[in-house]
Amino acid sequence: MTIDRRQFLGLAGLSALGFATKPSLETIGRQLRAPGRRWAMVVDPKKCLELDGCTRCIAACHAAHNVPPIAEPRHEVKWIWKERFERAFPSDQNAHTDDALKSKLLPVLCNHCENPPCVRVCPTRATWKRDDGIVMMDYHRCIGCRYCMGACPYGSRSFNWDDPLRHMGGVPSSDYPTRTKGVVEKCTFCEERLAKRQRPLCVEACPEGALVFGDLADSTSQVRELLRARHSIRRKPELGTQPAVYYVI
Ligand code: SF4
Repeated sequence: MTIDRRQFLGLAGLSALGFATKPSLETIGRQLRAPGRRWAMVVDPKKCLELDGCTRCIAACHAAHNVPPIAEPRHEVKWIWKERFERAFPSDQNAHTDDALKSKLLPVLCNHCENPPCVRVCPTRATWKRDDGIVMMDYHRCIGCRYCMGACPYGSRSFNWDDPLRHMGGVPSSDYPTRTKGVVEKCTFCEERLAKRQRPLCVEACPEGALVFGDLADSTSQVRELLRARHSIRRKPELGTQPAVYYVI
């Protein structure tokens, strides 16, 4: 899809003049952000693999955020999903890679990168990074150009090729906004729960405690303790995006 230049300039102009009908998510996000914090997640793959085939983190996230279950892979919408170790960490392969991890499925999600290429390419500022590191989405500003999808090296963004409501079985949750056809979406580290001092749903849902969430800026946090005690890797470090999702191996 190409961007209609006149349409884009019109949208950008309206936005700059403040003709939004409601406060944008960016404005609300600024009010909710936690100054000085840097949210991060630490995944323990071995704990995750304790329950073979478990998808509770995915089910909890997708149900709460009205993520439509679409089987067609090209049209799939996902916020958190399982990826083979070799695909998730293509640059971490060597002859000595732990056999316990090879070919295993691990949870992956938006990395809430310190240096997010998706934010740099968005022409309407529909995606932006908060001071606490969360990379946000404003569905009302998204014009569906999909530049962010091309820029994200992790496949962390999904495009609604169809009306997602057509694929929702039953009534969507009224606790989270539904999206429309032509809009990009992704994980937001459950920013709506963080605002209520609750942990992300995927973290809550894991019976093994394989996902740990916390503040990297707090040297006493559990994420910092784990990163001190264990060797950690991040996805595609050579790209310089600086993911905030770590894997302890
Ligand atoms: Fe953006 Fe992709 Fe990084 Fe998430 S993982 S912040 S979508 S570049």
